[in-house]
Amino acid sequence: MNAPFEVQNRIGDSLTPASHGATFERRNPADRDDLVSVAPESNADDVAAAVRAAREALASWRRTTPTTRADLLTKASRLLAERAPSIAAEMVREEGKPLADATMEASRTPKNLELYAGEAYRLTGTTFPSDDTPLVYSTRDPVGVVAVITPWNFPLNLASRKIGPALAAGNTVVFKPSPMTPLMGERLAAAFVDAGLPPGVLNVVHGTAAGAHLVNDAGVDAVTFTGSNATGQKIHAAIGVGRRVQLELGGKNPIVVLADADLDAAAAVVARSSFSLTGQACTGAGRILVDRAIHDELLDKVVALAGAYVVGPGDAAGVTMGPLIDAAAVDAMERWVARAVADGARVVCGGAAPTDAELARGNYFPATVLIDVERGTALATEEVFGPVIGFERVDGLTDALESANSVRFGLSAAICTRDMAAAQRFASEIEAGMVRVNRPTVGAAFNAPFGGVKQSGTGTHKEQLGPTVMDFYTVSRTVWLGT
Ligand code: NAD
Repeated sequence: MNAPFEVQNRIGDSLTPASHGATFERRNPADRDDLVSVAPESNADDVAAAVRAAREALASWRRTTPTTRADLLTKASRLLAERAPSIAAEMVREEGKPLADATMEASRTPKNLELYAGEAYRLTGTTFPSDDTPLVYSTRDPVGVVAVITPWNFPLNLASRKIGPALAAGNTVVFKPSPMTPLMGERLAAAFVDAGLPPGVLNVVHGTAAGAHLVNDAGVDAVTFTGSNATGQKIHAAIGVGRRVQLELGGKNPIVVLADADLDAAAAVVARSSFSLTGQACTGAGRILVDRAIHDELLDKVVALAGAYVVGPGDAAGVTMGPLIDAAAVDAMERWVARAVADGARVVCGGAAPTDAELARGNYFPATVLIDVERGTALATEEVFGPVIGFERVDGLTDALESANSVRFGLSAAICTRDMAAAQRFASEIEAGMVRVNRPTVGAAFNAPFGGVKQSGTGTHKEQLGPTVMDFYTVSRTVWLGT
C-alpha cells in the first residue's frame, strides 16, 4: 500500500502545519484501509495568518501588468497539463472517480487557466458621453482578497474556475479545498507556485472548520463558494453589506421525456445524467418525468443501462461506476431508498449496497431506480447526491413543466423530444440556469456561463467564461476627468 501524502498549509512563502499541530485524515473511498492524505486541521489563527499574507501581497500583485498575470496562468496551465497523468491517478485514490473521468478533469483544468490568462487583457472599461466634463470613464480594479471555498466532486476543475479569474484580475486568494480532497488542492496550488507566483498571492488553508473561519475573517473582501445548499445558506448569512459573495449550490435536476422522444437516446441521456460520477454531480438528474404513454418502455431501457454499470475501484479495468465519497454517503443512500419506499415508491433496480467480498472495503452503492415517486415527496424535491433516481408519470409538457418547476432548486434541466416547438417552450419556461435539449443534464461547455437560479445559487456573475465572469472579481470605478 502507498504511503500517505503529508499535505501542508501554504501561507505566504511557507509550507506549514496547523499552528496547534492538529491534522485530519483522508482515506481512499474504494479502500478505507488506504490512508491517502493527512492534512492540517487549521484553526482561526491559521486562517487569519493566511488572510494577512494575502492582504500583504495584494499591494504589489494588483499592480502587475496583464502580461505578468497572463504568463503566470499560462505557465501554471502547462505545468498542470504535464502533471495531469499523475494527478489523475492521485485523484482516483483520493476522490474515487473512475480513471477516465479523473483524466478528463485533470486535462480540462489547464484549459480553464488558458482561458482566464486571456481575461487579464480584457479588463476593459467604458467611456460615457458627458455634457460638462471632457471625459467620463470607468475602470476595473481587483476586488481585493478573495476566499475560494470548494467541494470535493471536481476538486481541480471547480477550484481553477475561481482561482484563475481571481488571479487574472489582480486579486490575492485564500483557497480552502474540501477536507475530502486536500491533496488535489495542494496539487493545484503547487502548479501556480511552481509557475512563479509571488509568495502570499495564493494561500491554502485546509480543515473542516477553516471555511467558516475564513468567511468570518473581516480581511476577506469576497467569497466565491461552490458546495451544498446548507453550507451556502450559512455563508450567505455571514456575509454583511460591503463584502461580496458568489454561491454555486445543489440541484434537483429534472429530465422530461415526452411521448415522441427517441427512447434509446432518451434512456442514454437519463443514465448518463443520473449515474455518471456515481450520481455525485451537482447537475446530475434525480427526477425523471416521463409521459405516461412511454413510461414502461423507457423504464425498461433505463433499467437495462443501470444494470450494466460495473461497480468497483476507479483504477480497475472495466469499472464504470466508482465508490461514493465516504461511508456516510452509503448510509444516506440507504435512507433515501427507505424513505422513498415509505412515501409510496417502488425499487425496480439497485436499492442496497453490494455484499460482494471484494467491494467490502469501499463505499459502494449501485445505480438505483425507483418508480411511482409522488410529486412533493422527499425523493422528488431534495438533492440526493448519489445514484438514486425516481421516475414520475406526467401527462404531456404542461404537466411536466408544472412538476419540474415545483422544487426550490433550479440548476440544470433536460428535455428529450423530437418536437422542437416543445423543446423551445421547455427552454423558456423551465426554471433552471442551464437547459439541455436531447442532451444530458451533466457536463459543461468550458467557455459558457455555468450556474443556477432559485436556491441553486446566487447567480452572481455566473462562473466560467461568459461575458460577466470577471465582474465578480473586479470593482468598477467611475472617473470624471476635468481639465
Ligand atoms: P459542502 O457544502 O459540505 O462543502 C463545500 C466546502 O465548504 C468544503 O470545502 C467545506 O469544508 C466548506 N464548508 C463547510 N462548512 C462551511 C462553513 N460553515 N463555512 C464555510 N465553508 C464551509 O459540500 P460538498 O459535500 O463538498 O459538495 C457537494 C455539494 O456541492 C452538493 O450539494 C453539490 O450539488 C454541490 N456542488 C455544486 C456545484 C455547482 O456548480 N452548482 C458544483 C459541484 C458541487
